[in-house]
Amino acid sequence: MITSEDRMVPNSLIRTQGYVNGQWVNAASGDTFDVTNPATGEVIASVTDMDQNDVQKAIEAAHAAWPAFRDLTAKERSSMLKKWFALILENKDELARLMTMECGKVITESRGEVDYGASFIEWFAEEARRTYGDVIPANTKDKRLVTIKQSIGVVATITPWNFPLAMITRKVGPALAAGCPVIVKPPSETPLTALAVSELAEKAGFPPGVYNTITTSKNAEVGLELCENSKIRKLSFTGSTATGKLLMKQCASNLKKISLELGGNAPFIVFEDADLDAAVKGAMASKFRNSGQTCVCVNRLYVHEAVYDAFVEKLSKAVGALQVGNGLDAQSQIGPLINEKGLDKVKRHVADALAKGAHVRIGGHELDGLFFQPTILTDATADMIIAQDEVFGPVAPIFRFTDEQEVIRQANDTPYGLAAYFYSKDINRCWRVAEALDYGMVGINEGMISTEVAPFGGVKESGIGREGSKYGMDYFTEIKYMCFGGMS
Ligand code: NAP
Repeated sequence: MITSEDRMVPNSLIRTQGYVNGQWVNAASGDTFDVTNPATGEVIASVTDMDQNDVQKAIEAAHAAWPAFRDLTAKERSSMLKKWFALILENKDELARLMTMECGKVITESRGEVDYGASFIEWFAEEARRTYGDVIPANTKDKRLVTIKQSIGVVATITPWNFPLAMITRKVGPALAAGCPVIVKPPSETPLTALAVSELAEKAGFPPGVYNTITTSKNAEVGLELCENSKIRKLSFTGSTATGKLLMKQCASNLKKISLELGGNAPFIVFEDADLDAAVKGAMASKFRNSGQTCVCVNRLYVHEAVYDAFVEKLSKAVGALQVGNGLDAQSQIGPLINEKGLDKVKRHVADALAKGAHVRIGGHELDGLFFQPTILTDATADMIIAQDEVFGPVAPIFRFTDEQEVIRQANDTPYGLAAYFYSKDINRCWRVAEALDYGMVGINEGMISTEVAPFGGVKESGIGREGSKYGMDYFTEIKYMCFGGMS
């Protein structure tokens, strides 16, 4: 059971000021905003609310820090990253509690996110030392052609509340490895985890100006400055597709390089030859993680009619056993939704599906506060909002299908293209369907696909670029081609 000590704000990592040029600072305006615990509605802390003028100071500091930082050896930057990685793991429990308190995620998942988030720092500490160029066979005898990869410059990151730590480290890990100072703009819902990792970055020894964190609720004016200020050379954003489109337009003013990790609408297909127990396990992991609030969460389950009833039966049993509650409580498996807006969206999707002929198999109702019952809807159809839009909640709509080609067509019938999943024991079908799904990532007989060693990202309106993996550094470096003439 949860103890009163567990509920206490973890004091040693709580910071409420922004971190700019190696200093903890308040907004010049003196404004603050509150951070609340979605499980209880309690205010955890009031954090400084920075504006355009404050962010300009951070940009100046980062720009001034760039030449010396990029000129360090890769090994020197790698050492700082390794120290930061170790400090994050040393503070895992405290970081996890802070994360659960501000985003509602259950504590076991928060601990998992600390490991996952830290893994990007370790990975890119290693990748820093492998940023190789090319020697190119020359087109004439008197030339020698080579390329080198150089740091792109100051990087701004804008990240969402559903992964308060990992979405930051997946971006700043490769940026710092490449020699780019960073300006981190965390979401206003979860700035405390971001400030805690900033403090650990300070302890890891990044020079002043190299790591900056701007906390703000004035996201439109701060976002505009991050996009339009030409001293920032790269914007890396994770969040909704609507915000991503706006930022891309704003970045067009100076042709800033941009990476976008945006929304999804993941299909999960269970073929008639699937291992149903494995499919249930995969669906539970992917659909209900973070109460259904991840970009790779299953949004639409397509089940072949031959196994529809059996699958629904097994899934209902697993969903019925889920414990809903405050994420700090060790037995909780489903926490609250992030805010009223999130809860309203889930209620709207369920009401629309029921009005269009879906049936509640289990759940279907809101509980106290921001909690919603884990829910299964059967007889879902393509005309329902839930088929077209991310529900971002613990609701699993199950569609029926009979034909492979038809289910692939339905799975691809969305502007999104982040993650897709399917279950089948037929190896030919596995290749055929995996190749036909119009998605950046496909889980084949697997519901958990995220790892630092593989490229994460989407096609279509799910984004631009890839994060993690051997490709991750490419988005924070520029290739310089050098042509040596007059060689004898
Ligand atoms: P969001 O509203 O787009 O917010 C994301 C970030 O953008 C937050 O820091 C937010 O600040 C900021 N922001 C909002 N409007 C802005 C503006 N005009 N200028 C600059 N910054 C602005 O997204 P969300 O609803 O919080 O996050 C959930 C979405 O993220 C879902 O669609 C999910 O699929 C997607 N996501 C994608 C990935 C991926 O890797 N593809 C991973 C996780 C989540 P405030 O919080 O202060 O508003």
